[in-house]
Amino acid sequence: MSSYDYDLFVIGAGSGGVRAGRMASGFGARVAVAEDRYMGGTCVNVGCVPKKLYVYAAEFGKAFTDAQGFGWETGQPAFDWATLRDNKRQEISRLNAVYRRILDGANAELIDGRARLVDAHTVDVDGRRMTADKMLIATGGWPHVPAFPGSEFAITSNEIFDLEEFPRRLVVVGGGYIAVEFAGIFNGLGAEVTQLYRGPLFLRGFDADIRAHAAREIAGSGVDLRFETEVESIARGPGGLHVLLNDGSQLEADAVLYATGRRPHLQDLGLENVDVKLTDAGYIAVNEHFQTSEPNIYALGDVTGGMELTPVALAEGMAFARREFGGLDAAPEYDFIPTAVFCQPNIGTVGFTEEEARARFGEIVVYKSTFKPMKHTLSGRDERSLMKMLVDKASDRVVGVHMVGPDAGEIMQGIAIAMKAGATKAVFDATIGIHPTAAEEFVTMR
Ligand code: FAD
Ligand code: NDP
Repeated sequence: MSSYDYDLFVIGAGSGGVRAGRMASGFGARVAVAEDRYMGGTCVNVGCVPKKLYVYAAEFGKAFTDAQGFGWETGQPAFDWATLRDNKRQEISRLNAVYRRILDGANAELIDGRARLVDAHTVDVDGRRMTADKMLIATGGWPHVPAFPGSEFAITSNEIFDLEEFPRRLVVVGGGYIAVEFAGIFNGLGAEVTQLYRGPLFLRGFDADIRAHAAREIAGSGVDLRFETEVESIARGPGGLHVLLNDGSQLEADAVLYATGRRPHLQDLGLENVDVKLTDAGYIAVNEHFQTSEPNIYALGDVTGGMELTPVALAEGMAFARREFGGLDAAPEYDFIPTAVFCQPNIGTVGFTEEEARARFGEIVVYKSTFKPMKHTLSGRDERSLMKMLVDKASDRVVGVHMVGPDAGEIMQGIAIAMKAGATKAVFDATIGIHPTAAEEFVTMR
């Protein structure tokens, strides 16, 4: 047994930290996990979980109208923000307790408070000093709001879940996951939503057809979507916040959500006391084993600047614990990571975009299908789905699958397994479909 207080000290009880701490403990290590804000981290408290609950809430907005085509008389539905927000709070409190129990049950010590590195083997949490053989930084990310006149009036994804009042007029700035998802949520809940993106087309990094199709559907669903538009300033005035745009026009809003990316959460971590190097973009630099330039200090998850997704942080936490404490060397695989944007309709994607596939494989075959989802033949909703598949001509391997449409996120998980297994287009073709579903389109594309 080492002379340190712990074998592993984890800073941050988020997706990656809890998984690493729990598993290391399971391998017999003496583990402590420090958390200064909320058990379960971003995903549980101000990320995936409350977001998905709000997405479900938003989907009811149109469902009441859809139902009428199926014979339902739904009257005039009314939405109460306080009920949704307070029910969400209750569920998150339940999950916080679950996370606490997970660590307790694994015999990892949970230390409430902000951790600061004193040297490579010593950490201070609110005046209590502890030593550990290995340190793991899993402190995640934090929303970034650019500096501009009136930026103090902007809110971020950290605040929007718990607003006292429902924002009847919401301006959303940004064109990434968070901006698109929250524009959809508040539009669905009945707010007047304007989404501003600085470039010609949002969702940079996604397949071009998906971006264009999503823009059409999102604008069609009622979001006032404006590209090549930036905010000059925000001021408080009569009637709410006055948002001055770069074209000289002005919007009035109850809230302005900035979803302009996240930065690694490194404040007051004591990095000046250790030799942990950062990447050019300011994330913690690690090798393939999550080791930093200080050999006994490791880092994983959002703070290292990979794909900022919970399942990625979980996989990294697991791989770290297995290697360092379980003697099992299994690095996470970063190819074909599926992902979804929970806008209305959903975007689901796995593998290369058309542009990337052409650059990498040369000749590719592109299959595309656009159709009205069966449900909307009776609902009357004017919404269309897009499915797209990219196949490497030489090997027949499916190298990219993209979708905009209901349940795209659910559908893409199974597709990702097939692609990880190296499925060819011939394998997709030989697979019998499930009828009637939208997903069957992926095995009948010709
Ligand atoms: P985190 O979960 O951020 O955990 C870091 C923890 O460290 C935090 O609890 C923090 O309080 C704590 N901490 C920081 N500094 C210290 C310190 N010095 N001492 C003690 N504790 C400290 N991903 C998906 O896969 N699907 C989604 O649908 C999805 N939706 C999202 C929606 C939103 C609005 C946001 C913001 C993110 C979303 N994500 C989603 C991303 C996902 O939440 C993150 O990728 C994931 O939480 C990263 O896990 P992590 O362990 O790296 O960090
Ligand atoms: P993203 O990096 O996805 O998007 C940031 C957006 O803000 C981009 O459109 C970017 O534009 C724009 N932007 C950046 N700086 C400025 C600026 N100064 N002025 C105006 N616009 C600006 O970050 P998000 O905050 O949306 O989300 C962070 C990460 O969290 C995501 O990348 C994702 O990994 C994760 N996440 C995952 C979800 C999921 O799995 N469903 C849901 C939510 C978050 P440009 O493209 O031009 O750079």
